[in-house]
Amino acid sequence: MTKQQRYQFVIDYFEEHAPEAETELLYDNPYQLLIAVILSAQCTDKRVNLTTPALFRKYPNARALSKADVDDVFDLIRSISYPNNKAKHLVGTGIMLEEAFGGEVPLTVEELVKLPGVGRKTANVITSVIDHQPNMAVDTHVFRVSARIGLTTNAKTPLQAEMQLIRNFPKELIHKAHHWLILHGRYVCLARSPKCTECGLKPVCKYYQTVVSKK
Ligand code: SF4
Repeated sequence: MTKQQRYQFVIDYFEEHAPEAETELLYDNPYQLLIAVILSAQCTDKRVNLTTPALFRKYPNARALSKADVDDVFDLIRSISYPNNKAKHLVGTGIMLEEAFGGEVPLTVEELVKLPGVGRKTANVITSVIDHQPNMAVDTHVFRVSARIGLTTNAKTPLQAEMQLIRNFPKELIHKAHHWLILHGRYVCLARSPKCTECGLKPVCKYYQTVVSKK
């Protein structure tokens, strides 16, 4: 099987079984998505979704957040991982959005990564979710699942995986493929015990064929 055939099988599978894949973070606008994604680093979407309603009520936009007291933000997000750093990042992000971007969330990776707490992965999420730009955020799920299936080969870093994935997925599907792989990693291709028996990708999955089926 060629790599392109493997990609096509994966695309067809997810188009049929997860046509509407999207982020599980709750948000109403780009500002809220940005804040939620910053909070989601090393934390579950579920936990973030429990936390953001109160945060957004008190700080509904960049202007409000730019004037926030870091300790107050900390109190609102204390149940999330790394609340200290994240509280500082959120207020810093509010300030920079106000001062450099007119209170709006910029929609280029280059501008987004200037914001405190925003790395390439977060910037890729924002631009692909809000604007459907062909950017692939590679988190731990995407990295693991792509390698197991064989969509990536010998990728040592998230950036290497990202480059391979965007080279091989059709441009117009990249924003969706990101969610396909994340959700598959979250619910089926689990890190410690992948649920291979119930996975429809078995026929093309390298890990299944070389490891699981040989046990
Ligand atoms: S067959 Fe198993 S290892 Fe391969 S993608 Fe499915 S769950 Fe993951």
